[in-house]
Amino acid sequence: MSLIASARNQARRLLLARAGAGDPRLTPWAAARRASERDSLQRVCNICGWHGATFAGPPHSEMANCPCCGSIARDRFLYWCWTHRVPYGRSQRVLETSPRLDDRYRKRMAELVQYTASDYDESAHKAMIKLDLQDIALPDSSVDVVLTPHVLEHVPGTEQALRELHRVVAPNGCVLLMIPMPQGRTAPPKETEYHGDNTLVYWRFGWDLRDQLEAAGFDVTCLVTQPLIDRIRRKDFDTGWTAPDIDEVDLLSQADPDSLTAVADDREARRYGFEPDLHFIVWQCNR
Ligand SMILES: [Zn+2]
Repeated sequence: MSLIASARNQARRLLLARAGAGDPRLTPWAAARRASERDSLQRVCNICGWHGATFAGPPHSEMANCPCCGSIARDRFLYWCWTHRVPYGRSQRVLETSPRLDDRYRKRMAELVQYTASDYDESAHKAMIKLDLQDIALPDSSVDVVLTPHVLEHVPGTEQALRELHRVVAPNGCVLLMIPMPQGRTAPPKETEYHGDNTLVYWRFGWDLRDQLEAAGFDVTCLVTQPLIDRIRRKDFDTGWTAPDIDEVDLLSQADPDSLTAVADDREARRYGFEPDLHFIVWQCNR
């Protein structure tokens, strides 16, 4: 084996060790093994295990698609938070609201844990059960982990939805709540807003969401990347991301860096495509 190949193998082993080798959630899919670019680890999908030189699409929470499983960056960050913050257990009861990945992902999840995918109106996504977050048709303490990507902003009654989530999550369980954070303080949209489907947006959330999560009874940790915390500390608020969908300066100038917890460092954020930093905020709500 050449020196370069041996160094690459060592780098790969280190990467797998850091990613938590031995955790079945991180075992690469067979399709990803075939599709990966052998010696290229610049970009890695932590869901299917694909690695290569570039994602198919520019940096954005809704883009940077994995060429193998089709994950977009926010799918990977939510999965990352689950694998880094919640120990693995085959008997873990996981409810995912409106997952956007296809049957290959759902099949894998069903092999890993006791998995249920739900959806509300079944227009944009099809799921195993239909579920209204404001009136969850599940027994008390019947779920260990709720993965909820970009759903709560489409629910009119935040307080009621959080009360219901707290009811169905078992003691020591948690909700990993991912929502767009377009501004510093929570407010309804000034104009009618949709996110790529026909589900209306009722709330544009800000940092004060923490108060609502705590009022519902959760112990709350806000998960982000280290580059975001560093940038807030430097007061480097304007990198040109402000657009109708997000007010970067308003969001970051009102952030308290001491209230944020880093789950990915600079290198990991680049490798797994958690860029731009302000798009990756997950609220871990422990029961
Ligand atoms: Zn993938």
